[in-house]
Amino acid sequence: MSIILKNVNEVDSEVSEILDLEEKRQKFKINLIASENYASTAVMETQGSLMTNKYAEGYPGKRYYGGCEYHDMVENLAIERAKKLFGAEHVNVQPHSGTQANMAIYFAMLDVGDTIMSMNLSHGGHLSHGSPVNFTGKYFDIVSYEVDKETQTLNFDTLRDLALKHQPKLIIAGASAYPREIDFAAFREIADEVGAYFLADIAHIAGLVIAGLHKSPIPYADFVTTTTHKTLRGPRGGMIMCKKEYAEKVNRMVFPGIQGGPLMHAIAAKAVAFKEAMSDNFMKYQKQIVINAKTLANELMINGFDLVSGGTDNHLMLADLIKTGITGKEAEETLGNVGIIVSRSTIPFETRSPFVTSGIRLGTPAVTTRGMKEEEMKLIADWVTKSLNNIENATIQNEILSAVEGLCTQFPLFK
Ligand SMILES: *Cc1c(COP(=O)(O)O)cnc(C)c1O
Repeated sequence: MSIILKNVNEVDSEVSEILDLEEKRQKFKINLIASENYASTAVMETQGSLMTNKYAEGYPGKRYYGGCEYHDMVENLAIERAKKLFGAEHVNVQPHSGTQANMAIYFAMLDVGDTIMSMNLSHGGHLSHGSPVNFTGKYFDIVSYEVDKETQTLNFDTLRDLALKHQPKLIIAGASAYPREIDFAAFREIADEVGAYFLADIAHIAGLVIAGLHKSPIPYADFVTTTTHKTLRGPRGGMIMCKKEYAEKVNRMVFPGIQGGPLMHAIAAKAVAFKEAMSDNFMKYQKQIVINAKTLANELMINGFDLVSGGTDNHLMLADLIKTGITGKEAEETLGNVGIIVSRSTIPFETRSPFVTSGIRLGTPAVTTRGMKEEEMKLIADWVTKSLNNIENATIQNEILSAVEGLCTQFPLFK
């Protein structure tokens, strides 16, 4: 792909071989993992660049190391572009990941033992919102909300009752496995009623928000956190946006509070990704993600699958496999063997363990980056169906595997 890889080959044949294998895997499998994407070669080049060779603790103009003049330039560029893209008052591009972005908000605004109200993990929430196995579950008192049993969507009456009862200091909206639009204005109202801070975590939907395909939380939330590598299609990393009044507190918590030297190669790559996100192509891309998700969802339902909440408004969907008798784990393995990569997923009111689960999560950001459209979504839906309906039939599974590889060849990556 680039000059760097040639050097890897000379220095370390073992890692080089692994990189080769991974390149083939990415090129010849259909990736339906909703949180993944393929960053552009421009983003990857920047992330693999000489910007990694520098300590730049601090912020532009206020570093604790000499020689940061170009790192200041690139970080300022990333910040200004992010502000423009989202209409944010203040941006911090230093968080190493989405989880670190969230951690900075919690530690900046809360005391250990304070109450956070967030979405239950098995209903679509994220580990870093309060799971008992995460630091959040250990340091804070977590009140989780769930989706409505009937509609499998958020019910703001129930949410409001819960907030009134527990008086959380922070309310979090945002999810990793919620296929519907999130009403940030309704969250704001509840937060105001109980005097809570409101954090919107848009890790999954950031790209859709930029393109206006999902309502932006910026006017409503005190803090907005995101990853830069999901629908946003940048390098792996995190970012915080907030109102000016919290800027100082948030910055000081990211550094020196919870991080040391920023990953300047990643920050430079974020700047490149933000430039890409300002283009018409990016807007078209985001639109196609949503069209593809709707098409895939409809085809799967036509083929007899139950989808949580009966469809999707965004880039992902959850197939509820209970009726089929196979578990999420079995489905993930079976599809993996035919070159279709999905992740098992808990579904609302899950009865199986998070390792087994009763569902799979499917998303369209990655296949859309390859240029696939509605026609390809129909093919993929049919292959998913056929594969899962014929788990024991090796001939059928092999046929699907060849078809998958054929389609991937027609939509090459890293051109
Ligand atoms: C992916 C995700 C994160 C965190 O991402 P990492 O970069 O893996 O730490 C945070 N919140 C939500 C809702 C996510 O989906």
